[in-house]
Amino acid sequence: GGNTYHLHRLPLQQKNRSLQAWDAADEYLVDYINEHHADAKRLLILNDDFGALACAFNQLTSDSVSDSYIAIQAWQHNLKENNLNTEQLTPLTSLEPLADDYDLVIGKIPKNSGYLQHQLTQLSQTLKPGTPLVLAGKTKAIHNSTINLVERYIGPANTTLAQKKARLITATMHNKAQQSPFPKSWQLEGSAFTLINHANVFSRDSLDIGARFFSNYLPQSKKPIRIIDLGCGNGVIGLQTLVKCPEAEITFVDESAMAVASARQTILENLPDELHRCEFIHNDCLSGFNPQSYDLVLCNPPFHQQNAVTDHIAWQMFNDAKKVLRPGGELRIVGNRHLDYHEKLKRLFGDSKLLGSNKKFVVLSAKK
Ligand code: SAM
Repeated sequence: GGNTYHLHRLPLQQKNRSLQAWDAADEYLVDYINEHHADAKRLLILNDDFGALACAFNQLTSDSVSDSYIAIQAWQHNLKENNLNTEQLTPLTSLEPLADDYDLVIGKIPKNSGYLQHQLTQLSQTLKPGTPLVLAGKTKAIHNSTINLVERYIGPANTTLAQKKARLITATMHNKAQQSPFPKSWQLEGSAFTLINHANVFSRDSLDIGARFFSNYLPQSKKPIRIIDLGCGNGVIGLQTLVKCPEAEITFVDESAMAVASARQTILENLPDELHRCEFIHNDCLSGFNPQSYDLVLCNPPFHQQNAVTDHIAWQMFNDAKKVLRPGGELRIVGNRHLDYHEKLKRLFGDSKLLGSNKKFVVLSAKK
């Protein structure tokens, strides 16, 4: 207990600086563990948002799992910022195997219940019987179905009293090993394509309606152009573009490890002969990409970060796109009409062209 840490939410330059890098669920979890599991030595941390848990338990040897590139960067950033040792913490992405020697598992309940289910199956395959699990979340995000999932994969579960609108679920490893139902797949309407989806991927069960509308406005070119599918999800946009642009090279980028893996598997499954034209990168937007080196960026931007509704990621994506495009290169996006993306594009590129619209969406093109 007792320690105070200063945490930053990444990316650092976002406009809404009032968003916190920790929440009441983190505080509740930290207090609970200090009180009930002070003897733990080898820790597994799940879904630490920005490093509140990494900082609080920095003296323990921990593996920490996240699907998010930004989260993993934030842990390192915040440990260093608080002058804490980064070496005791081993970051793992969501598809990496777990160790088999944890004596305590703690974590945040992810927004996506399929992803929670997948993580619980992984625990069921690796934890020693009797290993305690403590998960924290906002009261309104903990449903009977959440508790049922824990009971199905781990063992009898309890919930604690709510504190500042946060609650804990506790359980002890008891059940036998069970398989994950992920990855799952679905058929892309009007095509022979099958989309592969790991547990935490956007639009896991069917085509997103924005992506569907965007599909009508994808580029067509016989030239060897360089394209980025930014925020690729399961790869549905890049997949279709590979067909329409048979000489193009496409770079698939996402901040979700499961998205990047899904996109790769989608291409492998549907267009294995085109895999040599593809690259798959787990990254925060286009940070670290060479400037002036791409012809086209395609993007269906996100409008959430974890539980916060925000447009700072779209703004960062458009800024990054402008940097990596060659002069004359194009950013082509789809978005909800009410988000007014044309104003952002106007600020950045001077202008944008409306390629298509319906009641809900617009497709916009901006040239550098
Ligand atoms: N392209 C897919 C489609 O059209 O169905 C997915 C689009 S979805 C609206 C937005 C995607 O952006 C999600 O897959 C999300 O993981 C990804 N994303 C969110 N923040 C990101 C970031 N900082 N850098 C890269 N990708 C990000």
